[in-house]
Amino acid sequence: MTLELSRLSKSYGQFDFGPVDLTVDDEVLAVLGPSGSGKTTLLSLIAGIATPDSGLIRLDGRELVGLPLEDRQVGMVFQEGALFPHMTARENIAYAATASDRVDELSTLLELDGVLDRKPPTLSGGERQRVALARTLATEPDVLLLDEPLSSLDAPIRKRLRDELHSLFESLEIPILYVTHDQRTATALGDRIAIVRDGDLEQVGTPSTVLTRPASRFVARFTGNENLFEGTVTDRTADGSRVRFGDTQFQTTASNLSASAVTVCIHPSRVEVEPSYVADGDRTANRVTGTVARWLNEGSEYRVDIEIEAGSHTLTANVRPPTFERLALEVGSEVQVLIPQESIHLIPEVE
Ligand code: ADP
Ligand code: MG
Repeated sequence: MTLELSRLSKSYGQFDFGPVDLTVDDEVLAVLGPSGSGKTTLLSLIAGIATPDSGLIRLDGRELVGLPLEDRQVGMVFQEGALFPHMTARENIAYAATASDRVDELSTLLELDGVLDRKPPTLSGGERQRVALARTLATEPDVLLLDEPLSSLDAPIRKRLRDELHSLFESLEIPILYVTHDQRTATALGDRIAIVRDGDLEQVGTPSTVLTRPASRFVARFTGNENLFEGTVTDRTADGSRVRFGDTQFQTTASNLSASAVTVCIHPSRVEVEPSYVADGDRTANRVTGTVARWLNEGSEYRVDIEIEAGSHTLTANVRPPTFERLALEVGSEVQVLIPQESIHLIPEVE
């Protein structure tokens, strides 16, 4: 299936959504953006809950605008899965099912066999969301829309259900739009990510592109690019350019830049930390020396702030725990920071 939006727009008083052009094939598009940016509006227009002011929505060439909700074959799962409280889980799923054997099939798939005879108020949040998902899938939708379905759940359950959704989505060959305001969920589930800002799509790309090649400072901040510096392009060569910020010069692979005032963007996951005396490793990488100013243990990694150029700039690095422990890092440690040329992204925009 192919879902195609062209010049789709909708205004709510002060808020203008679109015009948006977007094509979603049989893939998961994670829709990421701050609260109030228009994520729910996008889904509501596709589902037929809201009517666009202009534009087209086509599913395999068939026009959806003007079709009532029930004729669209679009399934939607909300933040709190709006189940019928007086019906059991089984009845909730069966109510929507196109065929009776779908109930058994879906409850096995979503591990609901043990709770089918219970009513929603007696289920945990995670179970309720699984029932809501089963009920939506029971309608055999051609498009699946999910609006922050995990955001009301506790962290451990959220993570488990997220992993389950990942496998489930692989087995569904339909366009899936998954709305979240959490960058990690978007990266984990999305084949592509669409970043929404003030009713417009700011960037659509693979998770690694959006993370390491953000199109704007807004995208960079929203995807955890904490290292943003104002820089000047000083040299352009066939295979890259040199950029300066403060007294530091970096060689980058960025090409085709017309601007000379740029934002230098380096994702903390791409910054490597080594002892100050080591000189081997990647010789083409940019190296600067610095001092550890702060660190924070975030569980699966350490976030380390390193002051460079006598404290005029701070670089943040994500350091894996074995590396952190091997280097015995502490506040005041002298370190060497390695940044591969291709990990320095230049945004032709400054603040
Ligand atoms: P998000 O889901 O990204 O948090 P929404 O799409 O829900 O954002 O809302 C975007 C903007 O549109 C908000 O300013 C919101 O108040 C407005 N809005 C959404 N739905 C309606 C509506 N039915 N009537 C009036 N304003 C609305
Ligand atoms: Mg919303």
